[in-house]
Amino acid sequence: MGIEKIRVSIGSAQKLGLTEKKIQDMVTTCYLMTYIPAKCMANCGFCPQSRSSKSSLDKLSRISWPIFPLKEVLTKLKYLLPSKKFKRICIQTLNYPENFNDLIELVPKLKESTSSPISAAIPPMEKEQLRRLKSVGTERVAISLDAATPSIFKEIKGEGVNGPYKWEDHNDLLLKARDIFTDWKVSTHLIIGLGETQREMVKRIEKLRKLKIIPGLFAFMPVKGTKLENMKRPNIITFRKIQLARYLLIVQNKAIENITFNQKGEIIHFNMNDNTLWNIIDQNEAFMTTGCPGCNRPYYTSSPLGPVYNFPRKLTKREKEEIYNQLKSYIKL
Ligand code: SF4
Repeated sequence: MGIEKIRVSIGSAQKLGLTEKKIQDMVTTCYLMTYIPAKCMANCGFCPQSRSSKSSLDKLSRISWPIFPLKEVLTKLKYLLPSKKFKRICIQTLNYPENFNDLIELVPKLKESTSSPISAAIPPMEKEQLRRLKSVGTERVAISLDAATPSIFKEIKGEGVNGPYKWEDHNDLLLKARDIFTDWKVSTHLIIGLGETQREMVKRIEKLRKLKIIPGLFAFMPVKGTKLENMKRPNIITFRKIQLARYLLIVQNKAIENITFNQKGEIIHFNMNDNTLWNIIDQNEAFMTTGCPGCNRPYYTSSPLGPVYNFPRKLTKREKEEIYNQLKSYIKL
């Protein structure tokens, strides 16, 4: 019978003209989620879609994802004004038995309606399935580690929550995906604030750089009804330090030795002067959303009321000054 319905993030639905609801910043990627009338088979402690969460089925992170007829979404995509064209289409896929078949059907249909490149954020799949995904036109895939360390992964996505995932399998699959989709065409999501130290997160980013896999940073967001609903959001200074570290390692290809940690695993300074820090901030990129090119995820893990962890757009002068003040005591040359 084929796919009839699809979930669309509220910001993407607005840009497509599927809803009147207004959000502050326009999405640059069209975020879609395959529809199933049930929860995910996995049980990640932070996720409202997880098997045992009591959150609304309409949510992923803090965003709502209303359901629309696929036909209507494809038509809207096809006739979108060139000025509104998305930089990317992202299909989020939960863990359920038909997820691969749904993707194989969906990607070619999307390609008939848009020339924007397509990413698929997927749970682990077989190598052969990854090959098929590429052959039907998926440009990139993301397989989320979420956690910076094996022990946090086990506690939040694996055995600790009766979840199906294993750290080794996820990492193994990331490598297979990298070989199929090629260097820097595979992403993984990392959530800051799951109990890791700053050093552990920076070391994970460094490892991913060596593997030529893109790390996309997320701030932990407690969602009502999930296992981790009572956990705190990460400190904004911690998030800023990791954003800067990621920028130095991934974008500027600097050595990790330019970052100094204390015994508690906190970043105590970056090897740079005032001017360099200001220039990095002034170029925006370090503090904007990271992941696949063109992905900006407005308010995915930040409230419009702030604090804004990942900026979905260029920063204002006031925001740049604020970040400079947050980071200036962590630089030393
Ligand atoms: S980085 Fe963005 S576009 Fe890429 S898979 Fe993740 S959410 Fe989708």
